[in-house]
Amino acid sequence: MAGEPQADCLFCKIVAGEIPATVVRKGEHTLAFRDIHPQAPTHILVVPHAHHPNAAALAAAEPLVAAELLTEAAAVAAGEGLSDYRLIFNTGAGAGQTVFHAHVHVLGGRPLREGMV
Ligand code: 5GP
Repeated sequence: MAGEPQADCLFCKIVAGEIPATVVRKGEHTLAFRDIHPQAPTHILVVPHAHHPNAAALAAAEPLVAAELLTEAAAVAAGEGLSDYRLIFNTGAGAGQTVFHAHVHVLGGRPLREGMV
């Protein structure tokens, strides 16, 4: 069922505390933790507690939680002292998505290249 924890989902296991992660913020319906392979000095993932395969599916099923993902991402950036940062939602394997539980990357702390990729 949409939103239910998936036994084979890495981020469901992190949300459940079954796999350790460096948690930086706990929202009402979201969790923010550091990416295990940081691509910038700040590289934090914000995920909904509920399982949805990508951000679009989350927004369709739970728009208020999708909005919380953005407010939490902004709070994470502020907590890291970042005024400039990048949010990325990889959607689909062809776009680089490797974990099929909705998440937004918060990247910052170094100059980020202009452009989208
Ligand atoms: P995607 O490529 O799906 O947009 O992003 C998935 C992210 O999850 C990657 O940046 C990857 O480094 C991160 N990741 C993969 N496995 C783990 C893990 O076990 N713990 C944490 N904290 N991040 C992970």
